[in-house]
Amino acid sequence: MEMRPLGSTGLVVSVIGLGTVKLGRDQGVKYPGGTRIPTDDEARSLIKSAADLGITLIDTAPAYGTSEARLGAMLAGQRERWTIVTKVGEEFEGGVSRFDFSAAAVRASVERSLARLRTDRVECVLIHSDGVIENSPGFDETIDELEKLKARGLIRSFGASTKSVSGGLRSLDRCDVVMVTLNLAAKDDLQVIAEAKKRNKGVLIKKALASGHAAVGGAGAGAAGFGPDPVVASLRFAIGTPGVSSVIVGTTSPVHLAENCRDIGGE
Ligand code: NAP
Repeated sequence: MEMRPLGSTGLVVSVIGLGTVKLGRDQGVKYPGGTRIPTDDEARSLIKSAADLGITLIDTAPAYGTSEARLGAMLAGQRERWTIVTKVGEEFEGGVSRFDFSAAAVRASVERSLARLRTDRVECVLIHSDGVIENSPGFDETIDELEKLKARGLIRSFGASTKSVSGGLRSLDRCDVVMVTLNLAAKDDLQVIAEAKKRNKGVLIKKALASGHAAVGGAGAGAAGFGPDPVVASLRFAIGTPGVSSVIVGTTSPVHLAENCRDIGGE
């Protein structure tokens, strides 16, 4: 597995990371055909496969249902081998998202994430943007609190998962890491990635497979030229984009995970 620096955080991460929306949430998702939350045995098998493939990076969030708590249970005893990214600002309850980016909410959310993940620090916390906060004055208050949590040693680095080019670019001014969307049908954030590279910031990619639509030829995949092997084309495009640190692929399938690592020249 190829390893890359996460900007100037001092962290080094696997070029493929494991996204865990599907580990804990089956409502309000845009995957083709929906999703089914894996059983404990399936989840453990997924984590073991990821480790065997050399994946070191796991992305989770409070808004991913039981994802954080399940990871906390499964990573017990192997915490040191994982780089954990979680988020703040979004809660998902009863099928509805609620957002609170205030300093108090950020602090409480990180403390709860540490408890759920059964750890005393996480390597990265991202602002789980609703698309509005990243372009609002309140964004600075959220970042101020993340800086304090970093100074306290509860988080090693921080950043924002953004929804607009302006929000991504703004994040680079004060953040260590950005998480942006990049796939063959969604290239707007290439500007953000190029700027991040200039400033030596970490770049995590979400939705590299267009939330699975690339694999089934949907979401404009044909028009965007995903080609005959859209998963391979999509992964290679994202991983080959200069400035990208890691591509976070959301899967609950050990078979797909292994295929993805093989297709990019890993195990
Ligand atoms: P994605 O990685 O683009 O696509 C995931 C989908 O692709 C899953 O349905 C998966 O199904 C399928 N897939 C994966 N490998 C495959 C293969 N080899 N062949 C066929 N299908 C394959 O989408 P995503 O989950 O939306 O995004 C990735 C991660 O980014 C998330 O899990 C999350 O960690 C993060 N994210 C963050 C935000 C945010 O912060 N706002 C938003 C979205 C996502 P199987 O399970 O069947 O493999």
